[in-house]
Amino acid sequence: MKKSELRRQLLAAFRPEEWEALESNRTAVPVNPYNREMLLDLRDRDEGFDGEAENQSVRALEETVSAYLERYWPEAPEAHKYVTAVCLALTFLYEKPMHPPEKVRYRTIVRDGKARFFCPAREPGEGSVCEFCRSEPMRALEAAWEAMAAETRQREGEASALVLREAFRAGFQDAGVVETGRLRFHEEVRAICEGNRCRGYDASWACPPAVGTPEECASRVRSYEKLLLFSKAYLPEDSMDFAAVGAAMKDFKVCSLALGKALRPRLHRLLILSNEGCGRCGTCTWPEAACRFQEELQPSIEGFGFLISELAKQAGIPYGNGKNTVTFFGAVLYDEES
Ligand code: SF4
Ligand code: SF4
Repeated sequence: MKKSELRRQLLAAFRPEEWEALESNRTAVPVNPYNREMLLDLRDRDEGFDGEAENQSVRALEETVSAYLERYWPEAPEAHKYVTAVCLALTFLYEKPMHPPEKVRYRTIVRDGKARFFCPAREPGEGSVCEFCRSEPMRALEAAWEAMAAETRQREGEASALVLREAFRAGFQDAGVVETGRLRFHEEVRAICEGNRCRGYDASWACPPAVGTPEECASRVRSYEKLLLFSKAYLPEDSMDFAAVGAAMKDFKVCSLALGKALRPRLHRLLILSNEGCGRCGTCTWPEAACRFQEELQPSIEGFGFLISELAKQAGIPYGNGKNTVTFFGAVLYDEES
């Protein structure tokens, strides 16, 4: 069947008063916030569902979800259609995993403008909804990380393998090592900072001029032996959607803080640089008082004068990940003998 027809059928399963109740969040039956949001999105989005959904698979998933709900949630049969509709929409129309990322902590990898999902909660074998889900098993991704870590250990050493593995665990999708002796610093990148189009210049401890002069930044970087560049790509529906790009940036910062937390007790010393400025506090203390989180401060990678496209090439990782994607970069500086 055409995806547009599947959408029509899913929407038709709800009466006008049920849509009104969903909208005002006053449904007579329990509907979780994620399902409610998905259903309202499905109603309001009338484009982007091109192509076909295989009839047999749609019916098979519908039956599997219904059987599951009858068995495990018999006390609320009127609520089942909300869950079933969301499972069908996510699988066949949005082509996304059936559970929200916060619930199963699935990982998303974006390549060539397409997302792949890896779920740690995926049930093996047949008979569960996982059989229909767009997620792949998380262990496939973990095996790829382990292979890269083993290769990095052999080529670079133990500390590099540790930093690389922790970068993946923290949520990044690509990572590669460069010796700091090979790094170049670009005056013109600093000049872009000074142009202040990002509004980060002179606004926090993470950006110039607070991070030091170009010479001070270069000397600080060169005091370390190696740099591991890490990145994560996002697929906002519209790369001009500033709220979605802002949310992606926030996620990137959460991942880079998690990486710092994982590495600090295990490395003798390190410096983490992150995409653009800080923005962690509502109002930065710069320049009146010291940073509130001095130990965890992650200066801007651009503010240090790095040309990211050049750095990505040196580290052997992609600079872009396809149409409509946004990729952010950061780096860990460390010593191999730590
Ligand atoms: S693989 Fe299974 S547990 Fe994971 S999101 Fe899909 S349905 Fe949910
Ligand atoms: S952590 Fe807070 S005080 Fe420190 S640079 Fe960031 S915004 Fe400023």
